[in-house]
Amino acid sequence: MADLARRGHATLSIDQLAALAAGRLTWPERAVALIFDDALETIRTDAHAVLESFGFCASVAVVTSRVGLDNAWPGQPAEIPRFRVLDWSELADLGDAGWGIISHTHTHAALDRVTPDQLQAEMDTSIDLLVQHLDRRPLAIAYPYGIEPTGSLEPVAARFAIALGGGNRPLRPDDGPMRWPRIESRYYLPALPCCRPGGAGFGPYLGIRHRLRSLARGGGR
Ligand SMILES: [Zn+2]
Repeated sequence: MADLARRGHATLSIDQLAALAAGRLTWPERAVALIFDDALETIRTDAHAVLESFGFCASVAVVTSRVGLDNAWPGQPAEIPRFRVLDWSELADLGDAGWGIISHTHTHAALDRVTPDQLQAEMDTSIDLLVQHLDRRPLAIAYPYGIEPTGSLEPVAARFAIALGGGNRPLRPDDGPMRWPRIESRYYLPALPCCRPGGAGFGPYLGIRHRLRSLARGGGR
């Protein structure tokens, strides 16, 4: 965060991202959007204060079936540490503090392995619960594991202004709003010149990291 601030990056809210996707805003120079997947308790205990100290905004992607529970959903790799997930009241507090609240599906399903009906249910249940508990309809979905659904993205576009995937690269002008890429924060190493956004080496560096990770996971996961 200190590096982003020092380099003059502004943070974009989810409302601004939706406006950018719709062409209602012009892209600012040096802007980033910060998205925290899974709504872990560490957002409340750690991240919130850090972001506030830099005047940054961010959004949280909620797995609605796990609110107030933990991140031990089916399919969660054993090596991922378990954390408590924020409850509805804590999520409401974040919303009141200016955080964007977006969908991360209902069960954290890998969307390349669900039927069209399951895809719709994952999105609709998630939207319904966010509206019911937080009185806000999510403008965006973050695909679990960064994996977009197979087949048409029309059902996603019918429900959300933006869909965030993986890919570990900066956004390009020709990226459609149903598959905006994201860079995992662990890949952002400002101490190394090659690993900073804006430098000539950043794209190739991210590509190598992404490829190594895919290989380690057995191809593309
Ligand atoms: Zn996730």
